[in-house]
Amino acid sequence: MSTETFAFQAEISQLMSLIINTFYSNKDVFLRELISNASDALDKIRYQSLTDPSKLDSGKDLEISIIPNKEARTLTIRDTGIGMTKADLVNNLGTIAKSGTKSFMEALQQGADISMIGQFGVGFYSAYLVAEKVQVTSKHNDDEQYTWESSAGGSFTITQDETPTLNRGTAITLFMKDDQLAYLEDAKIKEIVKTHSEFISYPIKLQVTREVEKEVEDDEEEEVVKPADEEDAQDVESDDEESASKKKTITEVETSFEELNKTKPLWTRNPEGITNEEYAAFYKSISNDWEDHLAVKHFSVEGQLEFRAILFVPGRAPFDMFESRRKRNNIKLYVRRVFIMDDCEELMPEWLSFIKGIVDSEDLPLNISRETLQQNKILKVIRKNVVKKCVELFQEIAEDKEQYAKFYEAFSKNLKLGVHEDSQNRERLAHLLRYKSTKSLDEATSLADYIERMPAEQKDIYYITGESQAAVENSPFLEALKKKNLEVLFMVDPIDEYAVQQLREFEGKNLVSVTKEGLELPTTEEETARFEKVKADFEPLCKHLKDILGDKVEKVVVSNHMVSSPCSLITGAYGWSANFERIMKAQALRDTGMSSYMSSKKTLELNPDHKIITTIKEKFEEDAGSKTVHDLTMLLFDTALLSSGFSLEDPNKFASRIHRMIALGLSLSGDDHSASDIEDGPASDDDAPELESSTMEEVD
Ligand code: ADP
Ligand code: MG
Repeated sequence: MSTETFAFQAEISQLMSLIINTFYSNKDVFLRELISNASDALDKIRYQSLTDPSKLDSGKDLEISIIPNKEARTLTIRDTGIGMTKADLVNNLGTIAKSGTKSFMEALQQGADISMIGQFGVGFYSAYLVAEKVQVTSKHNDDEQYTWESSAGGSFTITQDETPTLNRGTAITLFMKDDQLAYLEDAKIKEIVKTHSEFISYPIKLQVTREVEKEVEDDEEEEVVKPADEEDAQDVESDDEESASKKKTITEVETSFEELNKTKPLWTRNPEGITNEEYAAFYKSISNDWEDHLAVKHFSVEGQLEFRAILFVPGRAPFDMFESRRKRNNIKLYVRRVFIMDDCEELMPEWLSFIKGIVDSEDLPLNISRETLQQNKILKVIRKNVVKKCVELFQEIAEDKEQYAKFYEAFSKNLKLGVHEDSQNRERLAHLLRYKSTKSLDEATSLADYIERMPAEQKDIYYITGESQAAVENSPFLEALKKKNLEVLFMVDPIDEYAVQQLREFEGKNLVSVTKEGLELPTTEEETARFEKVKADFEPLCKHLKDILGDKVEKVVVSNHMVSSPCSLITGAYGWSANFERIMKAQALRDTGMSSYMSSKKTLELNPDHKIITTIKEKFEEDAGSKTVHDLTMLLFDTALLSSGFSLEDPNKFASRIHRMIALGLSLSGDDHSASDIEDGPASDDDAPELESSTMEEVD
């Protein structure tokens, strides 16, 4: 018999030390995790057997047994599930780390509770909360029986068992730490199973020992039986009384199994008779969550098609919500009470991947396979209904402001993804969106409330996108709107850019970006007439500035959207906004050439009432070839890039222009070269106040 030794993968080893050496008062979680693994293993063999019944030739009973042994100080959790091959034991229990291993350690350092362990996919190691040594004996249909063993310390061993003890499945034996013997008590085990594993859909059987009195012939050998101390006296007594019949009563220890979870599936019961505690317990059992759910919807659909479902909104987002490797679905699919699978992607769209729950169909075939699921029409109808119910559930949550704030903080990204992807529910989801705005700086407002506040002459819903509220609050784009008392929504989540592209309108009102072309503010006839004049008046200047700026801008126009800023840069109505350009630059697209192709077409808007602009206009009218006009235009363009949310193409060039301004401000004379020394380019031959040498202007 050969024993092989393996080293734990480094992070796993670290995690085990952390579990062993850190003080946690709540160790109950280990049992829940091991039972949950047993239940998963049973699910797997049951699922296999639906298409290949011979898989159960190695045993038809699907169950979990818990066997405490006070003498040996061990606790064994045994299941008749799928079992693990030798390779499974090596891979799953120690050599291949999951993404959750590291995340969980980080979460623990940030104060997360140990009971969250299951959510990170490393629940097995919680065994070391109570055990100093763990043995995992496992038998898979495709392999011999092996035993994995480890007392932590960086390594584990695997041994092939010469005398197999299991037909199929896994037995995990915990060698309890000296101070954890309480977990061998029946009452303690029952209590934990009741609170944490009540809704496991396989029988959980506890091996209990009982002392029974038996009458035996007197000549029977007493060594065979093991009377308990207390009853020794009785024995002697009855012995005396019945000595004549040559019989005596002795106490014998009998073991038997007691089933701990006899409740029928929660979803088959009438919702009216179910308490919130029961839902919470059920939620925890299917989700690995240690906290209560935020909201629940329990319903049945009847008619053409029949199914029951319980859907839960968790209290918080999972740690890996938008990671691509993440399990995409958390809905367990049952067919007529038989568990089919727990990651049926066809049941929920991605944007609802945070919903946990179960769906039990009356119509699907039991032997449905993953492949056939994809084309299954029944499933498509179920999905449509389930999505609708989720939206209803969100609407219900929205009725309670406090609850909704919590929900929104955790899942607003999902709602926005929903707006982007789900055209059927887009309108309803739009009602659930909340944004802060120029009129609601502290509390997010709904689009419906926004419309309620709109002045009569306002036609559109205005919004601005940007990196943060602080970054957009004082944007030049908001000036005229604020002055006209028009509210602007702050969309400062990257996903808003995507969502709003699809949303386009809400209750007949267009959603209009204030940083893009096509913004039309309500104006009086008088204002319009005046503006037409201004436009004509500025036309030559605009043309000139466009010539100066060349490809940097599409157009130069005058605009009545600013009050205190001299100019700003807007983008095309259907092109990328400055914010979207920022988002895309931060992503991998940067070097594909796509970004220069797709990036925003900019229009420079001038504020015709601003002193800087009117002065530039005067200078231009005095001298059409003015160098000052040229240099100031370049500088204005760069500052407009910044104030409009773009990034600078060449920050150094910008800095040197500003440094020249500072030099001017400090009245440093041109001939001491201080100003030009600061530049990174060749010094200007011209005297101050020229702002830039001609070589500096050749911006690519
Ligand atoms: P998770 O259950 O989230 O996958 P665990 O750390 O609890 O993470 O378990 C690790 C893996 O070990 C499981 O995914 C499974 O492959 C295997 N495993 C654990 N317990 C059992 C068991 N009783 N039967 C079969 N496989 C098991
Ligand atoms: Mg687990």
